[in-house]
Formats: sequence, C-alpha cells, structure tokens
Amino acid sequence: MDPQPPAAPPTLAAGQPIRWSNWYLTASKLAVGLLIALLIALLWLLRDNEIEEQRSTLIADVLWLEQSLRFHLEGNAQQLQQLALDIAHEEGRSQLFRTRGQHLIKTKAELIQLVWLDATGNSVDGLPTPDLPSAALSIFGGAQTNTALDLANKLGKSVYSQIYREQEQPQFDLYVPIYENRRLRGTLVGVYSLNALIKELVPWWFAEKYQLRVLDSNGEVLASNSHVRADVGTLSYEVPFDPPGDGLLLQVSVYRSAGSIAQTLIATLIVLLAGAVFWSLWAVRGLIARRIEAEQALRAEHAFRKAMEDSLTVGMRARDRSGQITYVNPAFCRMVGFSAEELIGQRSPNCYWAPEEMEKTQRLHDSVMEGRAPSEGFELRFMRKNGERFDALVYEAPLIDADGRHTGWMGSVLDVTERKRAEELARQQQEKLQFTARLVTMGEMASTLAHELNQPLAAIASYNTGCLNKLESGNFTREELIAALGKLGVQAQRAGRIIRQVHDFVRKSEPKRVPCDLAEIIDDSIGFIEPEARKRGIRIVREIQGMRPELMLDQVMLEQVLLNLMRNAIEAMSGIADLPAERRLLTVKLAQRDGQMEIRVIDRGPGIPAETQKKLFTPFFSTKPDGMGMGLNICRSIVEFHHGRLWIEDNPAGGSIFVITLPVRQP
Ligand code: ADP
Repeated sequence: MDPQPPAAPPTLAAGQPIRWSNWYLTASKLAVGLLIALLIALLWLLRDNEIEEQRSTLIADVLWLEQSLRFHLEGNAQQLQQLALDIAHEEGRSQLFRTRGQHLIKTKAELIQLVWLDATGNSVDGLPTPDLPSAALSIFGGAQTNTALDLANKLGKSVYSQIYREQEQPQFDLYVPIYENRRLRGTLVGVYSLNALIKELVPWWFAEKYQLRVLDSNGEVLASNSHVRADVGTLSYEVPFDPPGDGLLLQVSVYRSAGSIAQTLIATLIVLLAGAVFWSLWAVRGLIARRIEAEQALRAEHAFRKAMEDSLTVGMRARDRSGQITYVNPAFCRMVGFSAEELIGQRSPNCYWAPEEMEKTQRLHDSVMEGRAPSEGFELRFMRKNGERFDALVYEAPLIDADGRHTGWMGSVLDVTERKRAEELARQQQEKLQFTARLVTMGEMASTLAHELNQPLAAIASYNTGCLNKLESGNFTREELIAALGKLGVQAQRAGRIIRQVHDFVRKSEPKRVPCDLAEIIDDSIGFIEPEARKRGIRIVREIQGMRPELMLDQVMLEQVLLNLMRNAIEAMSGIADLPAERRLLTVKLAQRDGQMEIRVIDRGPGIPAETQKKLFTPFFSTKPDGMGMGLNICRSIVEFHHGRLWIEDNPAGGSIFVITLPVRQP
C-alpha cells in the first residue's frame, strides 16, 4: 500500500480551465469594449445628425429673420417714398408731413426720427426734432457733407447711410429724395435705431434660441438682442444685413448645442457603466480564479482519496440509516466478487450474506442499525459471488456528514479466512509440539523414573522380605507386621502415583479445566522433579503457607509448566560447577495478590541477561546444546490459556524469578 498524495495536480488538467477562463474573460472584455465603442459611435452619429439638423434650422431661421427685416425695412422705405411723393404734389404739405410722420413714428418703433430737408439740405421740419443727428453729418467729413444724401439726390432714389453712433447708440438713416415734376424739391430722412429695430423685429422664440448680433465690416459688434453670450464653439451663421448694407452682417449663434446635456449625461453613464462592467469582469476573474483553485484542490483531494481507496486492502462499505448500501470501495468488491453497481442501492439481506448464517447476520445488521455494534468488531461468514465462503471481521463506525448529522454507518471489512486458517494451523502445530515436548521430557526423565521407581520397589521388596522373615521365624508381633505392611503399602502407592503421573503426562489430551487445588499441583510437581534435583545437589523449598486455593485448571498442563520452570532452574544452577551450597536452592512460593494467585519459581543461578530475556519466550530459543527452545513458549501459551500471565524478573540475591499469575475467578 503506497498512497502517494498527488503533489501537484496534472498540468494538462490544471492548465485547461485557466486557459479557458482567460479566453472567456478576454472575449467578454472585447465584447463589452466593442459594445461601448458602438454605443459611442451611435451617439456621435446621432449628435452629428442633430447638429446638421440644427444647422439647417439655424440657416432657415436666420434667412427668415433676414428676409423679414428686409421686408420690413422695404415696407418702411415704401411708406417714406409715398410720403415724399405726397409732399411733393399735395397742398398743405406741412400738415401732411406732420400727420403722416407722427403716425409712422408711432407705429414703427425702430424709426426714431423723421426729418424733411429742402433741396439745399436744410431742415424744413422734423419729428420729433427737425435737426438731423450730428453724427450723421460728421462722419461725412469736415465740410458737413452728407454722402448718402448727395447720393440719394443724385440717383433720385432711396439710399441708406452708413452706421454711425449717436450718443453711443448705433443708428442709420434712409434718405428719400422728393421730386416734383422731375425737379428735386428736398429729401425725407428716416432715422433708424438699430437696437430698436432688432428689439422690435426679432420675435421671442428666436431670441430664446439664438443670440443675434449685428457686426460692422470690421467685425465689431454694433447691436445685440441679448447680453447673454452664446457658448464659444456653438453653431453660428452669418448673413449680410442688406439693407442697410455697407458690409453689415447679421450673426446668429445658437445658445445650446444639440442635445448637449442629455447626450453628455448618456455618454457619461455609458462610460461609467463600462467602467463598472470592466470592474465586475475583473472581480469575476478573481472569483473564477478562486473557484478554479478550489476545484483543483478538490480534484487533487479526490485523486488522493481515490488512490487511497484503490490501494486499500480493507473493504469499505457505507450504509445509510435505513441499511441501504451507499458506497463500496474496490477492495470490498474484490472481496465479495460483486461490482459496485450491483451492490449500491441494496437493502438487507445482502447478496453476499451466507445463507447458513442469515439469521445471525440479520441480527448483527439490526444491532448495527440500532447503534449497538460491538466496538471491538465482530466476525461474520460472507459468501462470494461464486459461492465461496470467507470469514470477515467487521468494524462499524457512524458516518457523520459536513453538518454533523449522523447519516449512516461505515463498515471496514477484513477477510480473515487466511489468518484464521494460519492460526488454526499454528494451534495444531503447537499442540503437536507440546506433545513432542512431553515425549522429549518423558525420554529425558525415563532414566530418572526408573531410578525413582527403584526406590519404592526396593523398599517394597525389603518390607516384603522383612515381613516374610518375621512370619517364618514366628518372632513377631501383630503391630510390627501391620506397621511394615502399612509402609509397604505407602511405597506401593508412591510407585503407583509416579506411574500414573507419567501416564497422564504422556497422554495427549485436550486441555480440560476442572476445579483443582493449586497447592496440590505444586506439591505433585515438586515431588516429580525432586529426585532429579537431589541428584544434582539442589534443594527445593516450598512456601505455600498452608493455602489451598481451588482454581479451574488443567492439572497436567500446569504441572508441565511448573516442571519446565523448575527443570530450567535446576539446570541453570547445576550448570555452575562451584556454586556454593547455600545457593543451590530452588524456592517455589505461592501467594495471593489483587485477586490473583501468584507462583514464583526462584533460583539462585547465573540469572538471565536483559538481552536474552527479550528472546526467552520466542520459539526455538535455547542456549543449551540439546535444548529445543520450546519450553518457555509452551509455558506462556498454557498460562495464557488459563487467562494468566508468565514473566521473568531478576532475583536481587542473584538468579532469576519466573512469575506466574492466575486469576482466582476464571472466566
Ligand atoms: P530449553 O530449555 O529447551 O532451552 P526453554 O524455552 O525452556 O527451552 O528455555 C529457553 C532458554 O532460557 C534456555 O535455553 C536457557 O538459556 C534460558 N533459561 C530458562 N530458564 C532459565 C533460568 N532459570 N536461568 C537461566 N536461564 C534460563
């Protein structure tokens, strides 16, 4: 299993979304830019059109104004010519001049004075005064000549004078010659005020829209309809102001350029909106980048999880709270032989439940769903798709989602068939080994036993001979015979016990735990090994303190443990050639501690180095040339079979202590 987390996501997969988003964003920006350019162009065109339209309107309005001024002045001139004609021919001309003159001045506001000159140019009469404005004369030179008057008289038709200023007011005159029978009789002079003319003849709607200015030939402003100046750069149009002519120009300027406010507002809004769109695109770009980053992290996480899942040998199976399978990993599919599609969505009973264990499986399934699954896991027999059975060890844990809700159960499933088979094999082998070990021990002990049996048998024989001798001699008492026969019986029993023990020891049997007296087991074991110890000059001391604890034990097995420990101790001590007598001591101590019975096998031998202690209980570890190295390993197995413990301690006085603990109340 080697789940390498993907250090960096694959470049191709990572690069594509970024390139895609960059392309998308550039395209959006281009589109927005183009849209804005088109909108501005549209506005520009509209404005151009409007300016063009405004220009045409302006020209039309100016031409209309010029025309109406001309008509008006021509109308005035005709009326003056008619008056001149009437004055020349009719009687009572003075009265006529005054009556018609007053009427004219009253109705024509622009006509501010009417003067009647005789043929020499002297004033005959005038309204309101007979004197011509002094500026009208002075501008014609020092000789008080009046060019326009002369011209009118010479040509015999009406002539306009140049513009002059009288008391800062621009004025001009119209000279109308008076002829009687082809003879010049005088001249009628109409004095016009330019300001009054404009004020009178420019209508209100025109004044609202335009600024009208009258310029002289030098471009100087002579009169204007308003002091409010039109903006620089706005539309304007000029036409010659004729009559009165003489280089005068009518200049008309538009106050407001076409649609300026609305268009500026719209253009500003468009620019602002464009800015906002660009800004939002920028913000979106950031968002997209963050999203892509998150997606990549997710993808990497997913790939990592997938790699982990694929490399797992433990089967994983998720179920929702109703028991429906929601997820299985590849290892689980391999284990049961069904595909994920076949498994996901299934409810109990599942297709991989072994029919013969259906009831047990259903019961365990129900307890898992109720949240009562054993935390240490449980074993079940499952069935592969091909019908093959396998043993599974299942651990169930609650599935909690991102909001902390309990959504179901995640089970990890281990195929323990092989392990169980191996365990069974090991157990059988160990049993065989135990048996072999017992045989070996038996062989080793055979000679000792022969020697040991010799003793009681010899004693029996000698008691028997003694009794026979007494009987034959007839010199005996009844008590003497009873005592001798009693001792004989004890020896026979001892021999019988030795033989029974050997028989029990060698017989291969299943461990059987029955209530036993632990003190008796210790005594029997000591009795069994004592001859050998004695032979090697080693004393065995028992410290049982009168206890007779009754425990559930397999007597033969426990004896085997004690015998093995004692024999090791004896061999260790007898291995040292010059060991002093006080150290040739093997103590077997029984005590009760914390609800446990404790047996200590204490020797005063060489002790065991810490390094060796670690390997002591491993099979086949031996320092003896002919040792099998199985003894301690088997001893530990037997003690553990009795739910006890076996370990080694250093003897502070020198040597080793093997400690066995056995629970008083065994399960
Ligand atoms: P074997 O007796 O066949 O060697 P054991 O498993 O009984 O196998 O013992 C393993 C080894 O532990 C022995 O070879 C010996 O070196 C060591 N050993 C056991 N008991 C003692 C002891 N009381 N003192 C010193 N060494 C011991």
